[in-house]
Amino acid sequence: MGANYSKIRRCVRRARKLVIKSTTLAGSGHPGGSLSMAEIVGTIIFSHMRHDPSRPLWEDRDRLVLSKGHAAPGLYSNLAVAGYFEESEISTLRKFGSRLQGHPDWKCPGVEFCGGSLGIGLSFSIGVALGARMDSHDTHTYTVIGDGESDEGQVWEAAMTAAKYGVDNLTVVMDRNFIQQDSYTEHVMPLDGGSVGTDVSKSRSDKSLWRTGDKWRAFGWNVLEIDGHKIEQLSDAIRRSKAAHGVPTIIIARTIKGNGVEHMADNPAWHGKAPDPSIAPLVSDELESQAMIAPSIIAGDMTDLAGEIRRCEEGGADYVHLDVMDGRFVPATTFGAAKIAELRPLTLLPFDAHLMINDPLDHLAEYVDAGADIITVHAEVCDESSFGEIHDSLHSSGVGAGLAINPATELPEWAMRFAGTLDQVIVMSVEPGKSGQKYIESSHEKTRSVCERLTKGGFGGDVEVDGGVTPGNVGACFEDGARIFVGGGAIMGQPDTRRAVDAFAASITRARRTRLLVRAGRLGGGELASKWISLHKNEQTRDELTKLAEGAGVL
Ligand code: ZN
Repeated sequence: MGANYSKIRRCVRRARKLVIKSTTLAGSGHPGGSLSMAEIVGTIIFSHMRHDPSRPLWEDRDRLVLSKGHAAPGLYSNLAVAGYFEESEISTLRKFGSRLQGHPDWKCPGVEFCGGSLGIGLSFSIGVALGARMDSHDTHTYTVIGDGESDEGQVWEAAMTAAKYGVDNLTVVMDRNFIQQDSYTEHVMPLDGGSVGTDVSKSRSDKSLWRTGDKWRAFGWNVLEIDGHKIEQLSDAIRRSKAAHGVPTIIIARTIKGNGVEHMADNPAWHGKAPDPSIAPLVSDELESQAMIAPSIIAGDMTDLAGEIRRCEEGGADYVHLDVMDGRFVPATTFGAAKIAELRPLTLLPFDAHLMINDPLDHLAEYVDAGADIITVHAEVCDESSFGEIHDSLHSSGVGAGLAINPATELPEWAMRFAGTLDQVIVMSVEPGKSGQKYIESSHEKTRSVCERLTKGGFGGDVEVDGGVTPGNVGACFEDGARIFVGGGAIMGQPDTRRAVDAFAASITRARRTRLLVRAGRLGGGELASKWISLHKNEQTRDELTKLAEGAGVL
């Protein structure tokens, strides 16, 4: 059983922080491409690959080949989080005698391929996959290639070979970040067929310009095209790839180089440059500050929930928040597991099921079977023993476990015993039972104290605020320490979901930037804040950051 969605996300976040730590200490390395492929490698390792970190050479293991070997920190960091070696070893990156060299080497446990020269990993992988077939081994090979490395002719020789031999025990993922060593791929050697011309600004966002998949189709491959930062899309594509028989599959995963760090994102300068040690704590803090927006569909049209799911997708939501009410825990009734099962095939978006029901243990299996990705139950109807059973049962089913508290409930002491493994805590900021209520102001203080207690207890999950959250107060909720925000009337009650989600995101971005500027001020005064602002390539962003810094008294 692979890790649940929340856990994969958490492992990827941890791995990204290790990329920054290792390259900063080394003073060199390739953070940009390591960050762009973080979800790709994390989803493979933590959810799909058959492997055992304590037995790296186990014969029946699946193989992960990193062909774009310069992104080694992105591989090492995920291997460390998976337990192939101690995370502290990451500090030896690129040091003389270390197992963690600038390009992957077999002496590092978990490394299958010495990926120094680009363009070779796919050929190597075909050999591994064909070897497994000849030996009747039921193993799968995952290969991550870069878009820049696809300038190499050998990639296309390998593409022909895999198609000829129908190599279907191989899944290739292209980290399509649109940037190679010196510039944008569409400037250096256009993969999208030169249709973009000299202006590459639209090449990432305008779907009509993409031709890379056509090339692979012409070579006889099964081609899947996805957003490579969405774990749910990666997981679905990997499953579909393994279901395709007699044909090799490539997943073209569109990513953003340097993703997760605003000044590194989509910036060719960060292909092969280490962060400055004075900036690294800010980068680490930024990676820890990733937020998610979770519209609650009960705030929309209850007679057309399928339509509301579509609106979540079109609006760019991260989660679908499902408020289940049983008419007993709260007077209202919404829907139950049968409705969730009916909605499940309509989207890949993770289902965040919030069970406002009595006796959650008795009904848990129904919600697991319905396809919820994370299930949150209320502390008011649990004790340590029943919650322990719920927590363990969910995790053994590959589902995230959450605990919710009403406005009048304090986080119980027993909850702290689960802090290290709990995926989510929901702080209700309205009385549960109906949508459209106003945020209870004292919830700010409560969220802060819950976050503080959980952090002290080793909590690695996310605090979600649920009720009355709007673009006007979501920034303050972010400052409190919450990282997932349920949007009821302020998102699903609005005619334009995209606009509403964007308004939430803009407020969160402003709050995150302010938080980082204040941190910069504390660490190194206005000088460090100015240095950090100057790293942002976009002039408008620099202006906005300067205004925020002035407003916060940092400059
Ligand atoms: Zn809820």
